[in-house]
Amino acid sequence: MERYITNKILILLCLSGIIVFYFQCSAKGSQPFDFQKKREQMINTQIEARGIKNKHVLSAMRNVKRHLFVPEKYKHQAYDDNPLPIGEGQTISQPYIVALMTAVLNMDKKKNILEIGTGSGYQAAVLAEICNKVYTIEIIDILGMRAKKILDTIGYKNIQFRIGDGYKGWKEFSPFDAIIVTCSPTHVPQPLKDQLAEGGNMIIPVGKGYSQYLVLLTKKDGKIIKNKVIPVRFVPMVREDGKIY
Ligand code: SAH
Repeated sequence: MERYITNKILILLCLSGIIVFYFQCSAKGSQPFDFQKKREQMINTQIEARGIKNKHVLSAMRNVKRHLFVPEKYKHQAYDDNPLPIGEGQTISQPYIVALMTAVLNMDKKKNILEIGTGSGYQAAVLAEICNKVYTIEIIDILGMRAKKILDTIGYKNIQFRIGDGYKGWKEFSPFDAIIVTCSPTHVPQPLKDQLAEGGNMIIPVGKGYSQYLVLLTKKDGKIIKNKVIPVRFVPMVREDGKIY
């Protein structure tokens, strides 16, 4: 009887050892832990270190899991200091550029924004954390639909999607408190200027080929004031027939 109890205790000890070992291994190897650390490092070394102080932007970028928006084979690079391919010849912007463009717009929970170029949906998620409503337009249907699926799964209720040509804006919901353009036309589209609210800001990369400047436009007394921010490299803004604007 005594031997039977000792055996039982030994078996139980072995089992609990195996269970503890299994959980330790899975915790070490499981991706969420690594990604969270990488995300924190990204904020410290790429965003805050380069002078972005806007609390809304920092907390939004801490919350949004960037690795959910990049293709499987690039997930390990999701928090690196560069853009990444997302398919269809398009890219998800460098984290710092997302932070900078969002910060200069000075958004809060009362403001609505129009985004041109949904792409992966990452920028839309960052905006959805900060703004009241996000209206986002993507010209490549596969990308727009994939982004919608990811953002719906995460649970954002304040993003409205549209597949189409963002050059024309989204008149029905205008004027917008802010407009963010994440593809580069050679000139600022007139419909976007018209759909910007009085006092509103638009951030847009403008230029030919790879010689582009990020420009911040502000509407004051119905007039547009322009300020150059930094040189950048975005994919071109295209028409429905594929030609560059
Ligand atoms: N904001 C995106 C960046 C995507 S790259 C992100 O966070 O991932 C720019 C996107 O603009 C591409 O997906 C491209 O297909 C899209 N685009 C190009 N021309 C467009 C147009 N005229 N209207 C809407 N989207 C356009």
